[in-house]
Amino acid sequence: MSAAAADTSVFSELAAIVGEAHLIEDVPTLLRYDIQGTQPAIRVSPGSAEEVAAVLRKAAERRLAVAIAGGFTQQQVGDPPERAEFLLDTSRLSALIHYDPGDLTFGVGAGATLASVAAQLTQHHQFLPLDVAFAERATIGGLLATNASAPLRHGYGSLRDFCIGIHFVTGDGVVGKGGGRVVKNVAGFDLMKLMIGSFGTLAVITGASFKVFPGPRQTATYVARFASLTEAAAFRDRIVRSALTPIRLEIISPRATEYIVPHGDPRDPDHYHPPAPVPAHETAWRLALTASGSDAVLARYRRELGDARELTGREEDEFWSGLRDFHANVATRHRNAMLMQLNLPPAGLAHALAGAEHAAVEQNCLCATLGRAGAGSLLVALIPLSVDPPSAMQYANAASAIRAALPHDGSAYVLQCPIEAKEHFDVWGSTPTDRSMMLAVKRAMDAGDILNRGRFLV
Ligand SMILES: Cc1cc2nc3c(=O)[nH]c(=O)nc-3n(C[C@H](O)[C@H](O)[C@H](O)COP(=O)(O)OP(=O)(O)OC[C@H]3O[C@@H](n4cnc5c(N)ncnc54)[C@H](O)[C@@H]3O)c2cc1C
Repeated sequence: MSAAAADTSVFSELAAIVGEAHLIEDVPTLLRYDIQGTQPAIRVSPGSAEEVAAVLRKAAERRLAVAIAGGFTQQQVGDPPERAEFLLDTSRLSALIHYDPGDLTFGVGAGATLASVAAQLTQHHQFLPLDVAFAERATIGGLLATNASAPLRHGYGSLRDFCIGIHFVTGDGVVGKGGGRVVKNVAGFDLMKLMIGSFGTLAVITGASFKVFPGPRQTATYVARFASLTEAAAFRDRIVRSALTPIRLEIISPRATEYIVPHGDPRDPDHYHPPAPVPAHETAWRLALTASGSDAVLARYRRELGDARELTGREEDEFWSGLRDFHANVATRHRNAMLMQLNLPPAGLAHALAGAEHAAVEQNCLCATLGRAGAGSLLVALIPLSVDPPSAMQYANAASAIRAALPHDGSAYVLQCPIEAKEHFDVWGSTPTDRSMMLAVKRAMDAGDILNRGRFLV
């Protein structure tokens, strides 16, 4: 039993902050919130930044660890928590803060789901360019904390480009903000950018403001096929240097094809199932790009892309929805798969992908890859071929071989692999210099080490 469960006074102190109706300590219900083998003793759902601050101060005072959860879709990232007495659930922090359609700015609480944000913006034919999986569950706070990247990043930039303000509460219980409500902000130290991608280790994000975009009038997607990675990369270079300005530009490896189409035979991830062989006609590398604009714009893409296959309407939507589900499809079909997120300058793409393919062969795995060919943000899945689960050493070797194929300013972290293997290697791949800098920031914002303890750094 954890410290929090043993001490009933904690429950009444939290009830005084958030109200008893917003606390759960019922064990069967909390089983749903298992984070890589650690189950919190109390779920607490604050309704305001001030309540978040009071909860965190209470946790710091009692030296209890706090795990933060939005839609719970990405809790497998990072090391398993060392402890988690409280699960701080953000679902009550979901109110609209401001929406000015004329100014194209929008602010909302961190617990709002991406789908609910999309529904509000679509009334003015506007949108947030984030086409990630599980929009019905993924929250604004979770998207910011994980620095979610999706195919539309090619045309609209990353979250760091269109998030214009963040509200947060540090691990020490201090309410703060970075940026603001307007696109032009004079900022000192950019706390907003620090929060994006901090995986809930520095602060609880309580709300955010964004620059939003007019919805595209019409789109078409073109899929071009190549006999080799080198040819695909050369075509990518041609597109990037041309006058074409696609809003998506995605590279898809031959093996990835199996995981982006709905599969008639969902496999039981607890049992070994060999991956299906790649059909002879699916040995091609592919580049998929989405054009948006007038009939004349689309006609130009058609002319310049020659024999690329054109997808529109439902077929186009289904194609991109399949791509969004790639990670989930790999994870549900292969329990022992390792998924890595690679971030690198686009010029290093072909070398990094060839390195990943090579690492897979060395470790008796198949390699399935896709990602932003123009922005250098890639997902690499290594799928074991053996009936026996790979050893921790095999995962470690594969991860370091993949990192070794990156340019010096690239990085790669493990999004998912069996928990037992995580104890034996560094899932984040940070350098000692990165680590000491990040530790200093962590100490400045969460001196008691209470936030997402053990998931990253400490
Ligand atoms: C199948 C699948 C495919 C995906 N594909 C991609 C992809 O291609 N590219 C990509 O970038 N992402 C991808 N994602 C990640 C996706 O964007 C995340 O699932 C989503 O951003 C997490 O939102 P959530 O509310 O579920 O967060 P949770 O899963 O609840 O939390 C995720 C992390 O953020 C922290 N956190 C959550 N809310 C807050 C908050 N308010 N303040 C501080 N920390 C917080 C948590 O502690 C945790 O460390 C994928 C996810 C899944 C499940």
